[in-house]
This record gives sequence, C-alpha cells and structure tokens, in this order.
Amino acid sequence: VIGESVALRPVPGMVAVIVEGSVREVAAGVVIRGGRVLIAQRAHPPSLDGLWEFPGGKAEAGESGPVALRRELHEELGVTVRVGDRLDGEVELDPPGRAQGAGPTLLRAYPATIEAGEPRATEHRALHWASAEDLARMPLVDNDRLWIPALQALLRE
Ligand code: C5P
Repeated sequence: VIGESVALRPVPGMVAVIVEGSVREVAAGVVIRGGRVLIAQRAHPPSLDGLWEFPGGKAEAGESGPVALRRELHEELGVTVRVGDRLDGEVELDPPGRAQGAGPTLLRAYPATIEAGEPRATEHRALHWASAEDLARMPLVDNDRLWIPALQALLRE
C-alpha cells in the first residue's frame, strides 16, 4: 500500500476532504544484460498461459513496489537484485472483486540489476533473454507492451 485512504464524512458547515484511495502495486522487473532483457513465460491463469512477461508480482500490504520486486524476483527466479528508478508509465489492473472504495492496482516497471544468482524458472514455464527483435515478435502479456518501445531503444543503444 503506497497511499492511505482518508475520507471525512461531510457535516454541515464543514468542507469535505477526500484524498485518493489506497493504491496497490504490481511491480515488474526489467533485467537487462548484454543487450537483452529477461522475460518469463507465464503458466497461469489459463488466459495468460504461455504469454511472456517481465517477472514480478504484487506488493503485500505495507510493502513498496521496489521491496516487493526484490522479494518476488528472489522467490520466482532465485536471484538477488538491486532495483532502480521506476520506468515511465503505468497500467491500471482490474483485479476481480476490487472492494468498493478501494484504490486501483497499478502495474509499474523497474529496472533491476542482478547482484547474486543466475535466473532459473521456478514458477514460470521458461525464461528467455530477449533482443529488441524478440520483444516485437514474441507474445507478451498486453499490459507489459507499454514498455516495449522504451526497452527496444535501450537495447539498441
Ligand atoms: O504474477 P501475478 O499473478 O501475481 O500478477 C498479478 C497480476 O498482475 C496479474 O493480473 C497479472 O496479469 C498482472 N501482471 C502483469 N504483468 C506482469 C506481472 C503481472 O500484467 N509483468
């Protein structure tokens, strides 16, 4: 949770103040090495089975995006990473059963540098070090496509 929900009930003579509801974050990691970026093939849910994503996951209550990403990449890939400044852009996810009044869940992407370990797929079907061309032709989950142009530019530098 990176924001707090504050809603004052209006009473006569008082100005109501409403601040944005709490925001949950799904943090995706962009791991670049040798002109390629690491993508991971999802195994679930059925609607995303076989599609590729930037690995990551959902922040738990009270956990920042970068902290969540570090934890998730350790759990999913067995690597320790340093997380950099988040990339421009975000995608609002539509979690089923979003509570009334609850804030949105936002997908955000961060560069991550491997400090220890070699990535292996423990929860994904497979891993792939993708070139700029791979990003254009491999089936990525729709949400992650937002970052393809920026990454292609980075990989081609
Ligand atoms: O991986 P997990 O199922 O915990 O992800 C939670 C949600 O975030 C899913 O709806 C998934 O589609 C989305 N997600 C995404 N792109 C990623 C990682 C997760 O759209 N790179």
